[in-house]
Amino acid sequence: MNELQPGNLISEAADMVEAARSMVVSTGAGMSSESGVRTFRGEDGFWREHRAEDLASIEGIRKNPELVWEWYRERLKACEELEPHAGYYALVTIQSEKGILPLITQNVDGLHQKAGIEDVIELHGNLGSASCIDRCGAPSVEMTEELFEELPPRCSCGSILRPDVVLFGEQLPEEALRRAFHLADSCDLMMVIGTSMVVYPASSLPLIALQRGVKVIEINPEVTPLSSLDGTISLHGTAGSILPEIVKVVYGG
Ligand SMILES: [Zn+2]
Repeated sequence: MNELQPGNLISEAADMVEAARSMVVSTGAGMSSESGVRTFRGEDGFWREHRAEDLASIEGIRKNPELVWEWYRERLKACEELEPHAGYYALVTIQSEKGILPLITQNVDGLHQKAGIEDVIELHGNLGSASCIDRCGAPSVEMTEELFEELPPRCSCGSILRPDVVLFGEQLPEEALRRAFHLADSCDLMMVIGTSMVVYPASSLPLIALQRGVKVIEINPEVTPLSSLDGTISLHGTAGSILPEIVKVVYGG
């Protein structure tokens, strides 16, 4: 039993997961940081001299492509070394038992997919591929070692490549956004994991569910604006400890 959490809240959450027919999960930076992903604004050393807005924007890439791509190369390398924690595998279990479990995420590191979670809706894109900054129509390319041999990497048309993540000042991908809102509007249970509840639109998804009288299970070591809302069951602890406990109650093992 998790010491941070009264057991009755775990079993209440487990009952809700078991009863749900169209459950959806939404994850934020906290899910990744438990696996060791450095938070975006807390970069070490050299990168601290630069503002994230100057690196992660179209203007930043055009102005200083080598510097920005060196930064992405480091981020990618850091991501590749990470392994999903037990919380990811607990979600894999729920997904395979229920047959369906769409997952909305603000994370770009691909850890959900690495654990084997399917149907991941990425609101902020994915660090695993890059495409033409001038949208010439060439297909996106996978981020591999060879891509970084000469910086900046270039599209077959000669333009610079840009990572397929949402950069500062850009719109979120339309289809991902449409699906996320549709799921918030149609699910019968939402689980919100490691989300600070300050980044729109992810922060509004549980509110849409709550307004329809749908329960929300929040898993976060910190108290957030969502924690005290009617209809929210808030489990304060790490996803890596709480999710496996819920799964153990529902599916045994
Ligand atoms: Zn191109």
